[in-house]
Amino acid sequence: PSPLLPTPKLVIDLERLSQLPKDKAGPLARYAATIQSQRGDYNGKVLSIRQEDLRSLAVIYDKSPSELTEEFISWGVLDAEARRAVESF
Ligand code: C2E
Ligand code: C2E
Ligand code: C2E
Repeated sequence: PSPLLPTPKLVIDLERLSQLPKDKAGPLARYAATIQSQRGDYNGKVLSIRQEDLRSLAVIYDKSPSELTEEFISWGVLDAEARRAVESF
């Protein structure tokens, strides 16, 4: 990857997240709600999260960060751009 391209952010689509079934999306929804509460950031349609948070989520979902990224992209909660964020792990 080019060092001139900034690493894309991991941006969770909160509207899409709220439409997903709880059995799949529950852990991510709780994680995102915790970050929102820590920041006092309740009004957004999206939530930018730390790269480190994807590592934690991968442990929670028992997947590798890149597998989990693909899953989140297939659910529509992450943008395809997120792949580049995970490549830099
Ligand atoms: P903290 O990690 O000690 O960060 C303190 C403050 O530094 C944050 O207050 C924020 O204003 C700023 N800050 C730290 N890292 C970043 C960053 O990468 N980008 C931006 N824009 N600002 C940053 P804030 O937002 O009120 O968060 C309070 C505390 O809530 C944080 O303390 C941290 O413990 C937790 N937190 C908030 N958002 C996240 C997150 O996305 N992931 C994790 N793991 N913790 C978070
Ligand atoms: P951006 O990072 O591309 O974010 C674009 C817009 O997405 C933001 O517009 C905001 O409406 C939404 N957004 C992204 N992440 C979050 C989030 O975690 N919570 C919420 N509630 N909304 C989010 P906004 O706020 O007008 O910001 C425009 C641009 O200003 C941002 O583009 C970014 O480049 C910069 N910016 C705003 N806040 C921060 C910050 O805390 N840290 C840094 N480094 N840049 C910021
Ligand atoms: P951002 O604010 O544009 O920050 C981009 C990257 O700069 C962060 O990637 C992190 O590597 C570094 N960075 C920015 N501020 C700080 C800081 O205060 N302390 C440290 N140690 N590093 C900092 P990262 O961690 O992957 O975060 C991605 C995005 O997630 C941030 O983009 C911001 O939009 C959001 N974010 C992360 N943590 C916090 C937080 O604590 N509070 C808020 N409000 N937003 C956060």
